[in-house]
Amino acid sequence: MTHAPIRTEVLVVGAGPTGLTLACDLARRGVSALLVEQAGALFPGSRGKGLQPRTQEVFEDLGLLTAVHAAGRPYPRMLNWEDGEPQGEWDLVGDPGPAVPDPTVPFPSVWMLPQWRTQELLHERLRELGGEVVLGTALSGLDQFPDRVEARLTGPEGAERTVSARYLVAADGGRSTVRRAVGIPMAGGQVDPRPALVADLEIDGLDRRNWHVWPKAPGGPLLLCPLPSTTAFQLFAQFGTGGEPENAAAGGAENEAEPDTSPEGVRRTVATRTHLPESALGRVHWASGFRPRTALAERFREGRVFLAGDAAHMHSPAGGQGLNTSVQDAYNLGWKLGQVLRHGADEALLDSYEEERLPIAADVLEISTRLHRAGGVGAGGLRRGPRTEQLGLGYEDGPLTVEARPGLAEDALRAGERAPDAPLDGTANGTANDAADSGADSGTSSGATSTADSGTGEARRLFDLFRGPHVTVLAVGRALPGLPAGVHGHRIDGGVTERVYGPGLFVVRPDGYLGLATHDPADLPGYLGRLGLR
Ligand SMILES: Cc1cc2nc3c(=O)[nH]c(=O)nc-3n(C[C@H](O)[C@H](O)[C@H](O)COP(=O)(O)OP(=O)(O)OC[C@H]3O[C@@H](n4cnc5c(N)ncnc54)[C@H](O)[C@@H]3O)c2cc1C
Repeated sequence: MTHAPIRTEVLVVGAGPTGLTLACDLARRGVSALLVEQAGALFPGSRGKGLQPRTQEVFEDLGLLTAVHAAGRPYPRMLNWEDGEPQGEWDLVGDPGPAVPDPTVPFPSVWMLPQWRTQELLHERLRELGGEVVLGTALSGLDQFPDRVEARLTGPEGAERTVSARYLVAADGGRSTVRRAVGIPMAGGQVDPRPALVADLEIDGLDRRNWHVWPKAPGGPLLLCPLPSTTAFQLFAQFGTGGEPENAAAGGAENEAEPDTSPEGVRRTVATRTHLPESALGRVHWASGFRPRTALAERFREGRVFLAGDAAHMHSPAGGQGLNTSVQDAYNLGWKLGQVLRHGADEALLDSYEEERLPIAADVLEISTRLHRAGGVGAGGLRRGPRTEQLGLGYEDGPLTVEARPGLAEDALRAGERAPDAPLDGTANGTANDAADSGADSGTSSGATSTADSGTGEARRLFDLFRGPHVTVLAVGRALPGLPAGVHGHRIDGGVTERVYGPGLFVVRPDGYLGLATHDPADLPGYLGRLGLR
C-alpha cells in the first residue's frame, strides 16, 4: 500500500542542539515542523558542555534558561597535577574572581552543562511548546521541486515514508546526509593529526571542585572535568604525543595511535596517565574517539534546503564554539522561516541566512583553530578570551542591516550589533499591537505601560520586552510612531537604555540584533515590510 506523503511546513533532520533549538523556535511561532532523528534516543554524551553568554540569552528567550542554570554550574578552576601532586590552579575562562557586573550583559560567564542534558532540556521545552522528536527515523534521500522538498524517511521497522515540506533544514551533523544529497561541498582539513579520546565516566575519590589536568602525562595530556547534573567526569585525552603502546592500534606508528574507546580502554588510559588507581574508575557512560577537524560548507542553502550547525561547519572543541554556533544558526533561521511562512514576508528574507551566518562561521572556525594550535593545555594555552563569548558577533555588513543615523561616534552602538540589555530605569511606555501575533509564548504589553516578562509581572529590563517571537521597535528619547500589527513598540526615555543606545528609532529583530537604526519614522514601513510586517 502506498502512503500519501506526510505534509509539514518545515522538515528538520537531526535532533542535536541545532535541530532541537530550531524546532522550539518554530513551535512558538506556530509553524508546523517535523523533527526526525535517526538514533533511537537523544545523544548520550557530554561533549559540548560550555554554554556561552550569548547562547544563554537565546535560551532565556526560548524559555529554558532557568532550567539550564538550575542544572549546570560555572566553570571550575583548572588544577594541574604532576607525579601525583597538585601543582597549582588556573582559569580557563575569564579573569580570576567574579565577572564585573554590566547592566547590558545579564549572563557574563560561560555556563557548564553536559550536552546530553542541554539536549534533554531543549526536548522538554519543545514538548511544552507542543512539539516532539520522531526518533528512529532517518532521512535517506530527497528531491527538490519549485514549491516543495520531498524527502524519503526510513522508520524504526524499516518502513519508508515520504514527507513533503516547504523547506528542509539539515541539522544532521558533520557527516550530513542532506548536505551530500544536495551536493554542497565542504572545504577544510585536520586541525590536529593527533587523535583524542572523550568519555564520561564515574570516578571515586577525585574532588569535584576542580577541572583536573595532567599536562605531562605519559602518552599525552589528560583532563578530567566534573560534570554538573551527574556524578561523572568528562575525560579528554590526547593521543599520539608519546608512547602508550597498550592503546595504540596494532602495528600503528606512535603518532597514529588510535584511542581505545571500550570501557576497559578508557579506564586503562586514565589509570596509566594519572595517579588514580584503576579500582577508583567506575562505569563508562559514553566514549568517542575523534581527530579535530575544521570544515566549512561552500554554501548554506541549496534551493529549499538549508544547512545549519555541524552540517554547515565543524570546529575543534577548543574554545567551546561548535554547539554555541549551531544554536545561533538555528536562532537566525527560525524567525526568518516564521516571517515567510506566517507573516507573508518575501522569500528573499531567507537569502539573508547564508549571507549572515557563513561569515560568522568562518570567523568562529578561525578562532577555534587558533586556540587549538596555541595548544599546551597545561600552560594555559587553551585559555579563552572574550571573543569566544559570542556577544560581539553581529551582522553589521549583513543584508538586513540599515544604519541611517549620520555622524555616529566611533564607539556608538550600531545597527547589526546585538541589542544590549538594560534595566528599565528610565521611563518606559509601550504598545504591543497583538492582533497578528500568532504563536507568542511570552507576555505581551498593551496600553500605556510596558509589562512583559513571560506574563509573570512587570518588565524590569529590555530583554523582558524583547522576549518572544515578535519584532520590537524601541523609540529612545523620542515619540513612538504607529506600528503595524504584530510589532511591539516601546518608548524609553533616559536611563541606561538612552546612554547605551543613544536617541533614535531601533528595530530589534526577533533574534535580538538591531536591524534598523534611524531618526526618521518614515524609514520604518519599508524596513518592516521586508520582514512581512505591514
Ligand atoms: C569531543 C567534542 C567536544 C566538543 N566540545 C564542545 C564544547 O565544549 N563547546 C561547544 O560549543 N561545542 C563542542 N563540541 C561540538 C558540539 O558537540 C557540536 O558542534 C554540536 O553537537 C553540533 O550540533 P548539531 O545539532 O549541529 O549536530 P549533532 O549534535 O551532531 O546532531 C546531529 C543529529 O542528527 C542525527 N542525524 C544524522 N544523520 C541523520 C539522518 N540522515 N536522519 C536523521 N537524523 C540524522 C544524528 O544522529 C544527531 O543526533 C564538541 C564536539 C566534540 C566532538
